[in-house]
Amino acid sequence: MIDAYGRTITYLRLSVTDRCNLRCTYCMPAAMRFQPRVDLLDWDELGAVADAFVALGVRRLRLTGGEPLVRKGFVEFVGRLSRHLVSGALNEITMTTNGTELERHAEALARNGIRRINVSLDSLNPTRFAQITRGGQIDRVIAGIDAALAAGIAVKLNTVVLRNDNLSEVVELAEWAHGRGASISFIEVMPLGDVEQSRIDQHVPMAAARDLLDQRWTLTPSAAQTGGPARYFTTDEGGTIGFITPLSENFCGGCNRVRVTATGQLCFCLGQDEGVDLRAMLRNHAPTEPLENAIAAVICRKPLGHDFRIAAQVTGAVNRHMSVTGG
Ligand code: SAM
Ligand code: SF4
Repeated sequence: MIDAYGRTITYLRLSVTDRCNLRCTYCMPAAMRFQPRVDLLDWDELGAVADAFVALGVRRLRLTGGEPLVRKGFVEFVGRLSRHLVSGALNEITMTTNGTELERHAEALARNGIRRINVSLDSLNPTRFAQITRGGQIDRVIAGIDAALAAGIAVKLNTVVLRNDNLSEVVELAEWAHGRGASISFIEVMPLGDVEQSRIDQHVPMAAARDLLDQRWTLTPSAAQTGGPARYFTTDEGGTIGFITPLSENFCGGCNRVRVTATGQLCFCLGQDEGVDLRAMLRNHAPTEPLENAIAAVICRKPLGHDFRIAAQVTGAVNRHMSVTGG
């Protein structure tokens, strides 16, 4: 799949649910309304979407949500997809999780072919963690991270940097990650859907986090790039720190990914509202063409870039919350 700007699409982020057992203040409102269950793709439909993208040349698949581990049958779903690893069609299957349910699933995920995961962790302070996640327990996340590492899964922490919550904690978080043999990426908050707080109040340019990290380490640019939006650096002791800066430094030119929501909307860009309804195609009993052909025909609609302008507006620039699009 090559889009209208010559970018080859090799990476799919597939959301398996919009539901979550946490309510992070920057991700969704406390009273988030989820999609009706009948609107969510079932496991067979999600499998059909993944198969179609693999047939079209996707080499990396990231499973996400909402929280993927809260949907019953997730581990078995990974098992079904692992045949694409065995055949060599997929280079890897990864996932993004909040870690709360990871302890009891880590071994089975490793058995089913997961070698790398991203775990979101915005604070090590139990009170602050509970405040950011609206009730989450940090101990469960730490137990999940340790179980994943013990199962041989490489862990990358994802930390959304929030001006008034965890900016002061970035050095401690990086030291903690590196001490456990994990890497860490710091992410700028994006204006995706409305939440209680103003996005301007939450947002802090990555340079502010970078200044704090520079006081602790001399960061050396790393050769390791994933083709994704993160820019990686190495600390004096060899730990990896990534920065994802969708607002202060846009990375759309090299974008190789598309996303499919749990209701089967194909999204070409995290920062644009447009989507194509794959669920309607999947549930059409008299389809005129295979799903692959329909996807191949619309991929040219991927826009050149996102449209985030956090400084210019207070509300979400895009109506979909990150938990809907799949982070
Ligand atoms: N529940 C899982 C988790 O938290 O890792 C997976 C889904 S979550 C939506 C994926 C990632 O998106 C998380 O790292 C989260 O911190 C990030 N995220 C959520 N809302 C965001 C926003 N408005 N701006 C930037 N990142 C956001
Ligand atoms: Fe749930 Fe992940 Fe959103 Fe937090 S960031 S509310 S864990 S989906």
